[in-house]
Amino acid sequence: MITRLLQDTEQDFAIAAQLIREGELVAFPTETVYGLGADARREDAVRAIFTAKGRPADNPLIVHISDLSMLDSIAADVPSIALRLAEKFWAGPLTMIFPKRPEIPYVTSGGLETVGIRMPSHPMAQKLISLSGCPIAAPSANRSGLPSPTTAKHVMDDMNGRISAVLDGGQCSVGVESTVVCFDDTQTIHILRPGLVSREDLLPYAKTVYVDKAVFEQTAPDVKVASPGMKYKHYSPKAKILPVDAPDFGTFADYVRQHQKAGVWCLLFDSDPEIDAVPCLHYGDDGIQQAHDLFFRFRELDEQGAETVYVRMPEQSGADLSVYNRLMRAAGFEVIRL
Ligand code: AMP
Ligand code: MG
Repeated sequence: MITRLLQDTEQDFAIAAQLIREGELVAFPTETVYGLGADARREDAVRAIFTAKGRPADNPLIVHISDLSMLDSIAADVPSIALRLAEKFWAGPLTMIFPKRPEIPYVTSGGLETVGIRMPSHPMAQKLISLSGCPIAAPSANRSGLPSPTTAKHVMDDMNGRISAVLDGGQCSVGVESTVVCFDDTQTIHILRPGLVSREDLLPYAKTVYVDKAVFEQTAPDVKVASPGMKYKHYSPKAKILPVDAPDFGTFADYVRQHQKAGVWCLLFDSDPEIDAVPCLHYGDDGIQQAHDLFFRFRELDEQGAETVYVRMPEQSGADLSVYNRLMRAAGFEVIRL
């Protein structure tokens, strides 16, 4: 299969929308990461997403809509708390879980009775959905287990020859996947996956907002988790990622110098100085910039041939928690504590 690289033109959008209507796979930019899209209602099309990615069948896809009017045909019950969140955070990086309608097949929901729905704010994502005229199921457009793609080139690196087309929208602004929430009851927001929309952002909308423990620790393979994606190894570059919990930069740098050898790299904060004789990349000083940079740097490190990467640890509050979670998952939750 030849994968077409499509641009932000009327002609190319017409091609992309036609491909979606024909049940083909089209990768497209969203504000979070690139998604690998197909008509969410078509079993054959959605099955092809799992094949192209090498994704386990029980890991559900997020369904993307461009208009609130699309919600009622796919979600069976939308509580008023969800409508308040939609008003504040849509279009944007928030996914909400609802009981699904039969229109959404079990292939899309990973066999669950629920469906995750999001309205992306990226204009190219919105345009593709509305031109296609259907809800678009789209997981991140990487091969399963690898870091999510934040440029069209990343998508091509992973998916060239496996999908029909990639719409090129430059680099994604957020850089990590959406916040995923479900509602335990009408007053409780349960964060299944942290993203740019933080616990702090959600607090005014519920009595209780809590973060699932799978965000902080490895779940045993036999344990049933609320969000199936959280149990799989994820986001990992080829290089071994080793987060280092150090009290300050000096302690971090001393540790790295002692462990320096060929193939060892560092991922530092933007304001950190270089460490002599150790090759380094930088990834932001706050959660928003770190989220923007993280997966891009992971892929750069692989291109540079890094084998082991010591990484400065992000914070665990606000949007920073999304970066902490992706880093810990990439490292299999192993941390070097100094
Ligand atoms: P991805 O699109 O690759 O970022 O993956 C989407 C993630 O959203 C999955 O791995 C799940 O963890 C989560 N998700 C999607 N739908 C549901 C659902 N119905 N219930 C719980 N989690 C979901
Ligand atoms: Mg993914």
